[in-house]
Amino acid sequence: MSLLIKGGVIVTASDIYQGDVFVDGERISAIGIDLDMPADRVIDAAGKYLFPGGIDVHTHLDMPFGGTKSADDFESGTIAAAHGGTTTIVDFAIQYKGQTLHHAWETWMQKADGKAAIDYGFHMIITDLSDQVEQEMDALVRQGVTSFKLFMAYPGVFMLDDASILRALLRTGKNGGTICMHAENGGVIDVLVQKALAQGKTAPKYHALTRPARAEAEATHRAIALAEIADVPVYIVHLSAAEALEMVTEARDRGLPAFAETCPQYLFLSYDNYEEPGFEGAKYVMSPPLRARETQEQLWRGLAFNDLQVISTDHCPFCMKEQKELGSSDFSKIPNGAPGIETRMSLVYDGGVRTGRISLNRFVELTSASPARIFGLFPKKGTIAPGSDADIVIFDPEKRVTLSVKTLHMQVDYNPYEGREVTGATDTVISRGRVIVDAGKFTGRAGGGAFLRRSTR
Ligand SMILES: [Zn+2]
Repeated sequence: MSLLIKGGVIVTASDIYQGDVFVDGERISAIGIDLDMPADRVIDAAGKYLFPGGIDVHTHLDMPFGGTKSADDFESGTIAAAHGGTTTIVDFAIQYKGQTLHHAWETWMQKADGKAAIDYGFHMIITDLSDQVEQEMDALVRQGVTSFKLFMAYPGVFMLDDASILRALLRTGKNGGTICMHAENGGVIDVLVQKALAQGKTAPKYHALTRPARAEAEATHRAIALAEIADVPVYIVHLSAAEALEMVTEARDRGLPAFAETCPQYLFLSYDNYEEPGFEGAKYVMSPPLRARETQEQLWRGLAFNDLQVISTDHCPFCMKEQKELGSSDFSKIPNGAPGIETRMSLVYDGGVRTGRISLNRFVELTSASPARIFGLFPKKGTIAPGSDADIVIFDPEKRVTLSVKTLHMQVDYNPYEGREVTGATDTVISRGRVIVDAGKFTGRAGGGAFLRRSTR
């Protein structure tokens, strides 16, 4: 199968130019002006942008949490991702206490197998670090699972102590893996949650009020300090607070390899959403929580100046009915997470590029090139170049879309951006040479995605 995409404007992290792209099989085989080789299909992309397929390195599909599980599985979640212009995800496999990493990896490979419609990789969440698990980290790196996530929050469930965190960091100094950190001080937060509940404060907004920005900043600082001691890079996931960003900026100014991502919810929503009437605030219960509205501009500045390198989604949807409702009389029982896998590219284009906060090249860098580089996928993914996978988004910069649960494809009963109008949306999406979204209609198949063995730093 070959494709010739004609007349589009090709955008990578470094270039913007008009050109034709010839795709032969799964890869891009040529780029040029007025290409006229015979192709099975010719796509007219005049007036459209060609972006490298979006890469979302923070998703939770089919994930157990607090007696329920995230509402999208690998089929519905990756189909929704494709509609939004994302052609690669890196999801999280979870090692529960007492389990081997290998068991966790196999469990998540099975969840994705035959279901994922786009390519996928895994980070491994370590919750129990023994000598044997340290050795297993090396084996996983060799198998292409080259990043690990550790939690400084959720004591008794996911949290690791500082000694274990340091040991894991030191191990990546030898095996070339990368540590991703959920940076919030879990012990402090637990005390604040118990205190609030004892005072009868049970509404959703107390989820945010018991997870202060300073608890995120403290953990971010500690994570970076431990990585500095271990002399390895560290990647802070879902950074939400200006105080935490200051810690990353300070470290980077000292030349340390500290990296961080933020997510659209922290750029477009704020603490004010928790004040919506009744139980509506539960829609936005996630960790870290939404912050003060002023934080949004500080995060945009961090994105523009490369103190933040990636925009991922932390897609972890739970329905209001029967799932978020579990916490109707106790905010601490509300499943943490919100949907976002489908809306990332349009939101960031509309709110970032169209407003002039970031350039078009920076948009591609934040949503595709930089996550590909940091997580061992570049240049197979993350760019439009001969030899790279033909993961291409044909994006219509003038298309106006109203985001709504009625038209989006995520299997969840609300959308945090309900009614928001955005300009700029995906038209056609190509994954390894196959058209999987054609003029807005899904034409791929469950199981069409492949597991990605990622390389080390
Ligand atoms: Zn997450």
